[in-house]
Amino acid sequence: MERRDFLQTLAIASAIPYTMKLNALNKAFSGLPPTERMPVVFAGHGNPMNAIEENEFVQGWRRLADDLPRPRAILCISAHWETQGTFVTAMKKPRTIHDFGGFPRALFEVQYPAPGDPELATSTANLISGTKVGMDDDWGLDHGCWSVVMRMYPKADIPVIQLSLDRTQGPAWHFDLASQLSDLRSKGVLILGSGNIVHNLGLVDWRNPASGHDWALEASEGFNRMILEGSFDTLIQYRNLPKAYQLAVPTPDHYLPLLYTLGLKGDKEQVKLFNDKTVMGSISMTSVRIG
Ligand code: ZN
Repeated sequence: MERRDFLQTLAIASAIPYTMKLNALNKAFSGLPPTERMPVVFAGHGNPMNAIEENEFVQGWRRLADDLPRPRAILCISAHWETQGTFVTAMKKPRTIHDFGGFPRALFEVQYPAPGDPELATSTANLISGTKVGMDDDWGLDHGCWSVVMRMYPKADIPVIQLSLDRTQGPAWHFDLASQLSDLRSKGVLILGSGNIVHNLGLVDWRNPASGHDWALEASEGFNRMILEGSFDTLIQYRNLPKAYQLAVPTPDHYLPLLYTLGLKGDKEQVKLFNDKTVMGSISMTSVRIG
């Protein structure tokens, strides 16, 4: 996209009133009846090898997919796409990005050829007010997205788009932005946050593959309680929590996708945890299903 066109897109997206945005959303799905409200998911993605290994976490994602209504499309918010400003992938054929190093060749050879959905990208941008959403033609699907989605939907026959994390914004801003995506849920779109609630790569313990440091277990249990109790304000203000939590979330990237999922919870919707294990000392695989 030319820079001038890009700027025009920004100007249009930020100037459209809400009712027109809804019309745009309905138009994008013209002919498609509203669906039952899709659940919202946060997946702890962990090691990229989960894309090709068989283990209990992969089985958890697979069971989830079997249990969900089949989505028309997937909107993924991955820990691994941080930008200045907010962007949505808008290409027809997103590439598979191998954004990691030091893994076996087999992982670099993985391709996940799910189509994109430019119309859904436009509709998503139009739903968001208060910030400019850029159409991205460059990113694709990073491993935070494809390592999970390919285990849920191995046929790659469901369109997938990604929404970036604006690294200049704080947690409350991200939580609010997520709530604006709510209408997509009744259009058959599965909104999937992908990160890890406890994620401290600097304190990984390779000798401890199936458990966590004391502080990691403490933080994971505390986070779980707050998620299930609906203490979302405390989760948004996680910087005020005690030291175990600060060790668990040394940087916001893997935590913020959780806030996107929580920001989409409707009143009285059920919240369930799955894959609730801490591994390699400092990484929790805990995943959340809402609805
Ligand atoms: Zn990651």
